[in-house]
Amino acid sequence: ALEIVDLRIRYGSLEVVKGVTITADAGSHLTLVGPSGCGKTTILRSIAGLEKPSGGRISLFGRPVYDSDAGIEVSAEHRDVSMVFQSYAIWPHMTVFENVAYGLRLRKVARAEIDRRVMAALAMVGLEEQAHRPSPMLSGGQQQRVALARSFVFDPKILLFDEPLSNLDAKLRAQMRHELKELTSRLGITAVYVTHDQEEALSMSDHVVVLQSGIVRQQADPFTTYFRPRNAFVADFMGASN
Ligand code: ATP
Repeated sequence: ALEIVDLRIRYGSLEVVKGVTITADAGSHLTLVGPSGCGKTTILRSIAGLEKPSGGRISLFGRPVYDSDAGIEVSAEHRDVSMVFQSYAIWPHMTVFENVAYGLRLRKVARAEIDRRVMAALAMVGLEEQAHRPSPMLSGGQQQRVALARSFVFDPKILLFDEPLSNLDAKLRAQMRHELKELTSRLGITAVYVTHDQEEALSMSDHVVVLQSGIVRQQADPFTTYFRPRNAFVADFMGASN
């Protein structure tokens, strides 16, 4: 579903992504993990089309969306991807329904269609009962679900998560981890997830990509990265003593 080949991204003279190759199957859950500043968010943004690489290729479901050699660059709104951010920016003056509907209204979707899609998205995250409540009355976990519903209304093929749980307390984070994984699996959505938390990476991924300073140090299933790390960096970061 996702194929990234020899991706390079620079900020001015600083190269922060240095020839990264990553693949993910349709419907799988891939996690990018690594210390602060290793380039996780930058890679995620480039998949969404929010960051312009300096070289390499990105394909989504067999369709090239970026190819430096072929001169291909598909704009963000034509990529069928949706991004869920760390700060989920729920608008407090709007109801839950309006928060989820907002993006569709911007795109001038017909009213009946908005009703249908918003209620379907709220049902997916178990919030249909809360549709007409004011947003400030929601708990942290409910706000996170609103942020998810906001992505689901666009029916994306790929969902990108940038540390979506980092604002939640430990208990809720553990619960939402499970929910997120369950939900994306059930909907057959391909998820690319960024975290600096190795435990989160191990517990919710089919594949883990361990990054260090813009370089992939290992891509494998969680078991392998933990028990058979390919190098000392991965062993150290993923917490196994090997
Ligand atoms: P974190 O876990 O702290 O979010 P990260 O792994 O997601 O880190 P990135 O945010 O991708 O890392 O940043 C990678 C590198 O690129 C860092 O050194 C950062 O300082 C630099 N960087 C990111 N955005 C910009 C920018 N807009 N301009 C210049 N440098 C940037």
